[in-house]
Amino acid sequence: MMLLAVGIILLAYLGYKLQALSQSGAGMAVLVGFGVLIGFQLNGLLVLAAFFFSALVLSKVFRSTTEEVKGDRRDWVQVFVNGGMGSILGVLYYATGEAIFSILFVISFAVATSDTWASTIEKAIGKNPIHLRTLKPMTSRISGGVTVIGTIAALLGAAFIASLGMILFDYEVTLFVWVILIGFIGQFIDSILGAFIQATYQCPMCKKTTERTTCHVQTELVQGHRYITNDIVNLLSIAITVALSAILINLYFLS
Ligand SMILES: [Zn+2]
Repeated sequence: MMLLAVGIILLAYLGYKLQALSQSGAGMAVLVGFGVLIGFQLNGLLVLAAFFFSALVLSKVFRSTTEEVKGDRRDWVQVFVNGGMGSILGVLYYATGEAIFSILFVISFAVATSDTWASTIEKAIGKNPIHLRTLKPMTSRISGGVTVIGTIAALLGAAFIASLGMILFDYEVTLFVWVILIGFIGQFIDSILGAFIQATYQCPMCKKTTERTTCHVQTELVQGHRYITNDIVNLLSIAITVALSAILINLYFLS
């Protein structure tokens, strides 16, 4: 346990050195890692590492060429959005010993991984995105759009974590399929929220649609709510998916 705790600190430092995490991001990664460690020891950390390093590798391979890169470093908010729920579930599992928390833990990372794989690959090589609200082709690659390649990436991301979960946590096959489906649905919820409530801006000068508040000049809100950023959408989609899963698992697996 002590050794693993030191390992978490070293990995967060490595993430910082590799420019994947900002200083605050590395600090939050340690906190998230400790929560996961308390609940699920090495198995939990392997799931966390699978999410983090697969996201890191994909972001290096599929460097976004169209959008100006705002810096790849994840800050504490982004780390919390993706790993905070898993960390809280780790503490809950430690406190109660209820099996459901370990399943929800894997699901929370299935959603985070599914969404991260989809958006990373989509932004780099996705073609002809369709907006989920207008159902029309989009000109710029912002949240709320779906592409064929992104959807495939989302399924693979969920399957990747579900496979790891099956090996590490000894799931039966039915549960394995469920985790893939729920992880994928979570990512879809993310896209829906992105399309309907996430803040979308337009630059008055170049007319580009963007998620940023500044482009050539201050951009104008054209859709969604100012406070619903992409981070909030990610946080909500994971929270909603975990809550829905808790209900479903109670109904079908633990009854
Ligand atoms: Zn502009």
